[in-house]
Amino acid sequence: MSSIELRVLEGNRQRLDGGAMFGNVPKALWSRWIPPDDLNRIELACRCLLARIGGRNFLFETGIGNFFDPALRDRYGVLEPGNRLLAQLDGAGMSPEDIDVVVLSHLHFDHAGGMLSGYEEGPARLVFPRAEVWVGARQWERATSPHLRDRVSFLPALHELLEASERLVLVDEATPPPDPVIGFTFSDGHTPGMMLSHIALQDTELVFAGDLVPGAAWVHLPVTMGYDRFPERLIDEKRHLEERLAAQGGHLFFTHDPRISCAQVCYNAQKKKFEPRETRLEALM
Ligand SMILES: [Zn+2]
Repeated sequence: MSSIELRVLEGNRQRLDGGAMFGNVPKALWSRWIPPDDLNRIELACRCLLARIGGRNFLFETGIGNFFDPALRDRYGVLEPGNRLLAQLDGAGMSPEDIDVVVLSHLHFDHAGGMLSGYEEGPARLVFPRAEVWVGARQWERATSPHLRDRVSFLPALHELLEASERLVLVDEATPPPDPVIGFTFSDGHTPGMMLSHIALQDTELVFAGDLVPGAAWVHLPVTMGYDRFPERLIDEKRHLEERLAAQGGHLFFTHDPRISCAQVCYNAQKKKFEPRETRLEALM
């Protein structure tokens, strides 16, 4: 089995409307889970996972980055100056050139925006100059021909750069994974063809589930986001995943949870619900 080192890297945080993030959950409930500011927004992480696997550096997602102009930056409540992901990478003693593979669960701007250079740096370029960029083929189709409903979530400038880079790898069910410890599955409830990464660790499995389960509060099956394209399908997909993880002691990585990055999925038989049990990523290695 390949040796694996894992590390959490946080990108810039964002503040999004709490109601939109919690779909049909009443504010009286969700405001107890994540308290809103006076504009009804909740603070969300854009958390990435750096994994050294078999001598190669994999970056799962790139967060929101700092490509927005000041007006959009303000609209989406992007926090912290500069590109926090790159600063954290630097803190880990690495540069963008060191990343061999970027895996994007989907192409919404708060997951893939960190692929783009900062607004102040002039015309956009790709931040990771060597990395292959793995994206689900059906998500690519959706992102490049979006529906009016989700069009604003995608970044046409990024698609153009990726296409021109010759480093884009479009993944489907038949694509061999980049390493034997990584497996991909697909989910359509949040956005068509979203790609989940399953990493086989020594004693457990860690799933980077993107926006299928963005944080601890969303582990509870009925909780979905207003942004989800097909909420009922999402709940079925989430049930399927969580049943399997709970049976096997598997873990979820949370990209958006403001507080915790990783949790074991447990089934509470008394309350008949799935619950997250916070875990430190270091404990999984
Ligand atoms: Zn999304």
